Amino acid sequence: MRYYMNPDYQRAKSEAYCLLQEFGLEKPPVNPMDIAKRLGVAVSFVEFEKKLNSISGFYDFEEDTIFVNMNEYPLRQTFTIAHELGHRILHAEWARSSDYKVLMREDTATNDPKEAEANAFAANLLVPRFMLDKYWQGLSASQLSELFVVSVPVIKNRISFEYGA
Ligand SMILES: [Zn+2]
Repeated sequence: MRYYMNPDYQRAKSEAYCLLQEFGLEKPPVNPMDIAKRLGVAVSFVEFEKKLNSISGFYDFEEDTIFVNMNEYPLRQTFTIAHELGHRILHAEWARSSDYKVLMREDTATNDPKEAEANAFAANLLVPRFMLDKYWQGLSASQLSELFVVSVPVIKNRISFEYGA
């Protein structure tokens, strides 16, 4: 099956919002570990081989398990878990229908639309606009980073994307 060429950001966002609603998550921080647990997805922190050490994580569809690089710093791991949940929710059909055999590995240089969708899913799950609306004008980026438990660059990206500020 050929995957469509353009990322479907709208779908990524609405699937993230669905999860937040399903689990009654109304204020920060959103903990993707909890969400994974409640969905029955295992999260495993592992040491990758040296040549794979630039990889943040990957999702194994057959095992329904997210593997996270244990050597990355916690905020990065949080984002990775949210990103891999995105693959699980958005791309399960793709994984089943293609001749997909190998584990999905992360490659930062890729322009695979699935990567862009998983990132959009993670951004909307961890820092949804309806939560950001309440705080972004009153708090600094580092305060927001603490409140949402995501990195300062993620907060800055979200503010710039949602408000153009
Ligand atoms: Zn990915």
